[in-house]
Amino acid sequence: MKALRLHTPALAERSPLQSDKVPVPRPGPGQARIKVSVCGVCHTDLHIVEGEIHPPGLPLTPGHQVVGLIDALGRGVKGRKTGQRVGVPWLYSACGTCEFCQRGEENLCPNAKFTGFHVNGGYAQYMLADARYVLPLPPALSDEQAAPLLCAGIVGYRSLRKAEIQPGEHVGLFGFGGSAHLCIQVLRHWGCRVSVFTRDFSHQDHARELGAAWAGTAGQNPGRPLDRAVIFAPAGGLVVRALELLRPGGTVAINAIHMSDIPSFPYQSIYGERTLRSVANATYRDGQEFLALAVEAGIEATVNLYPLDEANLALQDLKASRFNGEAVLRIGA
Ligand SMILES: [Zn+2]
Ligand SMILES: [Zn+2]
Repeated sequence: MKALRLHTPALAERSPLQSDKVPVPRPGPGQARIKVSVCGVCHTDLHIVEGEIHPPGLPLTPGHQVVGLIDALGRGVKGRKTGQRVGVPWLYSACGTCEFCQRGEENLCPNAKFTGFHVNGGYAQYMLADARYVLPLPPALSDEQAAPLLCAGIVGYRSLRKAEIQPGEHVGLFGFGGSAHLCIQVLRHWGCRVSVFTRDFSHQDHARELGAAWAGTAGQNPGRPLDRAVIFAPAGGLVVRALELLRPGGTVAINAIHMSDIPSFPYQSIYGERTLRSVANATYRDGQEFLALAVEAGIEATVNLYPLDEANLALQDLKASRFNGEAVLRIGA
């Protein structure tokens, strides 16, 4: 089979992913083999490919927003069948026994494994998944529409919940790529007023099309304080700016696996019982909840399709903000 693999991290412009011929993997106990249809391209893939975060082993097949059909099952799998259409999200597996797993916070499990990071992901014709953690997909979602939901959507949804957003509040979104363009649709569904901060004019237009009440750069001011803010762009300076625009008692949540250092800021910016928190990964339950919500709210991802062989181009275009929404690799029939 074909797999687009990372052998040595390098800048995306240098096309670090290589098209390799590798054996089709055989599912071990508890695993499902997925015949991949499409795979979304996440900003985390860019961080991995460029060496900003370091997977435990190379070569590696990235990709953790995978949609496909189960075509083989290993021993001992319960509740899954061949032919079933599923999504494989970022959380590949968790230990199930540590204190975090016991609390239903398996996103924080120190033994968690992540798809396309600890194990090979979906930039390939086939991949293996832990059968317990794949998400059955609602029939209402096409393959292309489902892929961006599996990380951009699910982790974005967790960020909205961790930001403690209440219906009708004024919410600021900093950065407007794959995740934020899905989150704004959830926020509009909840009756929130949304202000979007991005320096990219095409992303500002996209935000207005999707119902933003205001769109501008982070240096500008939407004219009224934010109740909540979610930061998607991995730039530490935005944290300070979001706190400046936040009302007392409000919350800033950071949806980023990697971010530049946060500059020091005056205590006054966080005083007034403002909350600052990060968001790490997502639980299986987040996935189930968000997929149901996506159907209920009629969320439509803006999708840019690329063939598997153009995965490097997709990453380059993502890095340069050359499209709105999300890139999705088309792999199988
Ligand atoms: Zn655990
Ligand atoms: Zn991701």
